[in-house]
Amino acid sequence: MIPGARLIILGRQGAGKGTQCVRLSRHFVVPHISTGDMLRASVREGSELGRMAKKVMDSGGLVGDDIMVGIVEERLNHGDARTRGYILDGFPRTVPQAIALDDITTERPIHCVIDLDVPREMVLRRISSRRVCRDCGTNYVAADTEKHQWICEVCGGEVLQRDDDTPEAINRRLDLYEEQTSPLIEHYGADGRLVVVDGVASPDLVFLRLIAAVEAARRPG
Ligand code: AMP
Repeated sequence: MIPGARLIILGRQGAGKGTQCVRLSRHFVVPHISTGDMLRASVREGSELGRMAKKVMDSGGLVGDDIMVGIVEERLNHGDARTRGYILDGFPRTVPQAIALDDITTERPIHCVIDLDVPREMVLRRISSRRVCRDCGTNYVAADTEKHQWICEVCGGEVLQRDDDTPEAINRRLDLYEEQTSPLIEHYGADGRLVVVDGVASPDLVFLRLIAAVEAARRPG
């Protein structure tokens, strides 16, 4: 167990980030902070933020940097994140978000940024068969879901295809990743905090690679 680990997991949507982050957060006993999950919770609540975010998310676009930075800053100030650390999933997604995060975390800096690397063609195939529990966010592949009669094994919630997993929205998100998010690899690479983990393997093997990367980054010296 690594107390107080502060991690960012980058990677294309559909690279298996969400599922791996859930596993990592259980393994290292640190909160999993997913900005996508936070926005989807606002959509379910029907808040003003949720109504605005739904339109953007369904089209495959990105919610504005100022809004996202505000949401994350507020979340990182909660007691659990301050004491236990956190795994950031889906944030930052743009260079301005990363710069704002550097400012927010000057006192307690991020230890390690992992780029979970899966090629575009492969994530396109994966996202098309992705199904997600609307309550707890557990990911499934379509064939599995049919077997489980659309009920989540973890919490009993409804398992559905995400509204933003249409082919148009998926392609737009992947284009935006290349334009806006992939420059973060240079941003974090420049100061030596970036570790690239090959995400093309079985989920269990990728998980072991991620644990090894985090442990190596947190080893003293
Ligand atoms: P995710 O669950 O990470 O795939 O995020 C789902 C959607 O939420 C994205 O396609 C964006 O529309 C929005 N979103 C999540 N995180 C961010 C962020 N850091 N910046 C802008 N938009 C975001």
